[in-house]
Amino acid sequence: MAQVSLRGLRKRFGDVEVLKGIDLDVRNGEFMVFVGPSGCGKSTTLRLIAGLEELDEGDILIDGVSAKDQRPAERGTAMVFQSYALYPHMTVADNLGFALKMAGVGSAERKAQVQRAAETLRITDLLQRYPRELSGGQRQRVAIGRAIVRKPRVFLFDEPLSNLDAALRVDMRIELSRLHQELGTTIIYVTHDQVEAMTMGHRIALFNKGRLEQVGAPMELYRAPANEFVAGFIGSPR
Ligand code: ADP
Ligand code: MG
Repeated sequence: MAQVSLRGLRKRFGDVEVLKGIDLDVRNGEFMVFVGPSGCGKSTTLRLIAGLEELDEGDILIDGVSAKDQRPAERGTAMVFQSYALYPHMTVADNLGFALKMAGVGSAERKAQVQRAAETLRITDLLQRYPRELSGGQRQRVAIGRAIVRKPRVFLFDEPLSNLDAALRVDMRIELSRLHQELGTTIIYVTHDQVEAMTMGHRIALFNKGRLEQVGAPMELYRAPANEFVAGFIGSPR
């Protein structure tokens, strides 16, 4: 696990300033949820943390080390997307082991780690199947498993459950909370689902138009919204 500090993050795409100064400290082992209207900059912030985008201004510190002094691969982040992006021509086992193979991990050790990840996610019976033979929920587990084998210090989830039906989302929510307790990894989790945010997050960071409106425990945002926007978004009486 790791502590993630965002300091004055700014990012523009062409003429549009998408992030206008984001300051946030995510604690060691914390389950932090990002919420906010579509287009407010949640995914961009995650992508900056993962090193998939370059920042224009500001800094990202992971355990005190500036992102500027680290290549993306050294940051210890792993991202899980809404679209599962599994390799269609590889079995589940090979999908899980691919990053390890690329990192030069030997076959016996790879097999052991894949087995361990599969047990954690309860997909050991699926290891020889191909992605097309899996349900949406199973695919999502494999995608999470692929991130787990890399032993990230920070898990970045971008709306990982939004392609699943409502019943499965409830199951996966419980699974993800269990996984978080088991692994103890710092998690930053983007969702547009209010229930997910309120039930899973230790704290919520509410984005709006490239800025943070409020950061706090779910009940804090609910009981003491900082402004009308927060009250309206969280749905608290005011
Ligand atoms: P969110 O995840 O909160 O819905 P995003 O971070 O994906 O929002 O996007 C924020 C804004 O930045 C949106 O207006 C989006 O269209 C724009 N944007 C995101 N990525 C790019 C890109 N690669 N090029 C141009 N504009 C982008
Ligand atoms: Mg997004």
